[in-house]
Amino acid sequence: MDPTTLNALSDGRRAVSLVHGRIIDGTTREPIDDGFVTLAEGRVAAVGAMGDQRRGDADAVVIDLGGKTVLPGLIDCHAHLVYRGFRSLEDVDRCTVELGMVNAILNAEALIGAGYTTVRDVGTIGNVAATVRDAIVAGRIAGPRVVASGQAICPTAGFADNLPAHWHGEHGFGAIANGPWEFVKEVRRQIKTGVDNIKIGASGVEVGPYAHSWMTTVTQEELTAAVGEAHRRGRTVAVHCQSYDSVKYSLRAGADTIEHGTRLDDEAVDLFRASDAILVPTLCTLFSVLQLGDKLNLLPKQRSEMAVNEALWLGSLRQAREAGIPIAAGGDIGNRFPHGTNARELEYLVSQGFTAHQAIIAATGTAARALRRERFIGTLAPGRFADLVVLDGDPLADIRQLQDQMRIAMVFKSARLVAGMVRQHLGLGRAETQGIGIDLLGERWRERH
Ligand SMILES: [Zn+2]
Repeated sequence: MDPTTLNALSDGRRAVSLVHGRIIDGTTREPIDDGFVTLAEGRVAAVGAMGDQRRGDADAVVIDLGGKTVLPGLIDCHAHLVYRGFRSLEDVDRCTVELGMVNAILNAEALIGAGYTTVRDVGTIGNVAATVRDAIVAGRIAGPRVVASGQAICPTAGFADNLPAHWHGEHGFGAIANGPWEFVKEVRRQIKTGVDNIKIGASGVEVGPYAHSWMTTVTQEELTAAVGEAHRRGRTVAVHCQSYDSVKYSLRAGADTIEHGTRLDDEAVDLFRASDAILVPTLCTLFSVLQLGDKLNLLPKQRSEMAVNEALWLGSLRQAREAGIPIAAGGDIGNRFPHGTNARELEYLVSQGFTAHQAIIAATGTAARALRRERFIGTLAPGRFADLVVLDGDPLADIRQLQDQMRIAMVFKSARLVAGMVRQHLGLGRAETQGIGIDLLGERWRERH
């Protein structure tokens, strides 16, 4: 590809037609073997089989993909931008906000390089996630679209309250609230700091010291109050749920996503089916402890609890899948496995009986629904933001190809080539992203009001 063409791709001023690619559009539709996608003004203008391509814009830059695969930009629904190789939540709390910001900037760049054009951060320190989101929107740093949460809201001795009492500070991983009104107050405080999503911890966790994952640590009243307030202000809610009751309380409260879902019983499955909530099973967090426990010298509590949870977790996922509950991909990345390897979650979904196509939908179309932003991202359809990945290979034949950096040929965000091997081969390095970002929360407001 000559530099003039590449410049045209990078500045987004000309329409781009990607032709002769295999198109996976993020829905259950069968892939198109020989297809095209046309991008213009930041959006997908047209997509379909080569035979259906009408005479395009004469000014469009045409790129022959020679059979490479085009798929929507990947979406990780459960990540923590401040995490970098952390073993436990105590590690998170020992990280300073300043170092967390450095981590987040590096992680954002790793994510976009790996074909992830949107990430939902589900718990930060300070207010790092929203700050990084805004810096990306302003074009000051490279990265995906970020759906930002604030600190994880939980009660005393809950999921995100991890350090001894004398150590507790204002800016750590947890925002501690007790009782419905304190939950409401914290939701309102976080809205003022600009978050898009509210993260609540409703059960304990393997990697925290005070609450076990099978313990429910909130009341129904606390959850109902917090979710109601978030929804009144147009924010989504993700709830950390590893105990039986935490799932049911969250679904009754109207949560948008259930994170982990380690323990599901029949009643929870029925509640799920009657709701529009989506399950984010976060298999990377399970398998990273099981696989790296020895190497990382994890505490006995963490490893033995995860060993107990393994069968329940995988059994619950199977039950959910068989019941037709929508499942979105999110690996809890930054916990042990590094950012940039987020597509490992898709490999684990396939190991648990998903087809490669279903795993891709979990990281695209269904992920966008989990974020309540399916009108903008997650599928290749006219009008959607032109966020897409060109993969040199066939992920339906081997889902692990999505983890292979050498195969990520091109990453487009808002129709601009922002990452991928094509850029690197031409020595262009990091993309100039000035003015490229689109604030997803803003788009959502505009749509609804
Ligand atoms: Zn998490």
